[in-house]
Amino acid sequence: MESVIFSNNISFDLSKYLNQMGYSQLGVISDSNTAKFCYPIIGSLLPENHKHFSFPAGEVNKNLTTCTQIWQWMTDVGFDRKALIINLGGGVTGDMGGFCAATYKRGIRFINIPTTLLSQVDASVGGKLGIDFNGFKNHIGVFTQPELVLISEIFLETLPLEELRSGYAEVLKHGLIQNADYFSCLKINSWEKQNWREIIEKSVQIKREVVEKDPKENGLRKILNFGHTIGHAFESFYLDSEKHLLHGEAIAVGMICEAYLSHKKSGLPKDDLKTITEALTEIYGIFKFPETDIDGIIQLCSQDKKNEGSTVNFSLLRRIGNCDYNITANTAEIKEAITYYQTLSSQVPLNQ
Ligand code: NAD
Ligand code: ZN
Repeated sequence: MESVIFSNNISFDLSKYLNQMGYSQLGVISDSNTAKFCYPIIGSLLPENHKHFSFPAGEVNKNLTTCTQIWQWMTDVGFDRKALIINLGGGVTGDMGGFCAATYKRGIRFINIPTTLLSQVDASVGGKLGIDFNGFKNHIGVFTQPELVLISEIFLETLPLEELRSGYAEVLKHGLIQNADYFSCLKINSWEKQNWREIIEKSVQIKREVVEKDPKENGLRKILNFGHTIGHAFESFYLDSEKHLLHGEAIAVGMICEAYLSHKKSGLPKDDLKTITEALTEIYGIFKFPETDIDGIIQLCSQDKKNEGSTVNFSLLRRIGNCDYNITANTAEIKEAITYYQTLSSQVPLNQ
């Protein structure tokens, strides 16, 4: 597996690592925001002749058009197979920069420096790389490990609160699928005063333990997809609309729907469903959408990569801290779960 370093001094650790590594040329890939906020933190310590490519920020740009530009840039600056790429940014930069590196000339090495909470606790580790394609999330991609993941919470200082909140959904997911005690500690009193270092380390540990046992997602790794089958469908459905959801916001919706499915199909106690629904709606509120959108969202669920054949495959909770996988649900069950979420705002409290 990739090495992960939690750094107190990002410039020092990066320089040290680069000095140890042989490479012909060095390239940094960032998006327009990380070019502004994060590149200045590391840029001055990189060799003067390094190259930098920046693309417009946002999930809508995690596509083939941007990849073409990145591959063209790599070609124009003459990167050979010993070139080294640094992906400096959130999950979009890491997934796409990594994908471009892993496929350029059949693969050049790359380092991830994740700069969002989401990418620090989740996207930057585990080797899944890819892009969206024709409206389908992460439809084209590969598994390739980065040489190194360098994590520093210094980058979170410039991260907008809504992005911090979005990333927190993956943290909550880690508690829900693997560690009930961790989940119960994850109460947010103040976004500013969190001990991010501790949270990031714990979450990365959980993710790595799972990925280590099943790197290519043949079995156990599927538990990391809890909330993502329906969550991705929401994210895709509203991708180009005004209601656009951040990844973690969509996953929060997905986790509530899939907790409902867990209650129906894998024995999640009603109290746990209530705890999850309350914890998540307290942080993320309730996303409002018309009932007429539900069929379109369900259609996107069946496009999910986790499916084999025509059934929709879910990872569902047995209880908080314990997740099962390969549980299939039919359209009517998925509809019931989404409807549970959709009617939440008008529902009487769950314990009545
Ligand atoms: P992102 O990369 O779009 O970053 C979110 C926003 O924050 C962007 O506008 C970005 O420019 C900005 N930003 C990043 N760092 C900043 C900083 N330090 N200061 C100020 N602004 C900053 O999105 P994300 O939430 O990091 O990641 C979501 C993506 O990750 C999705 O595409 C999702 O599919 C992917 N993902 C991948 C995996 C995986 O295992 N590969 C896991 C989870 C999510
Ligand atoms: Zn996710």
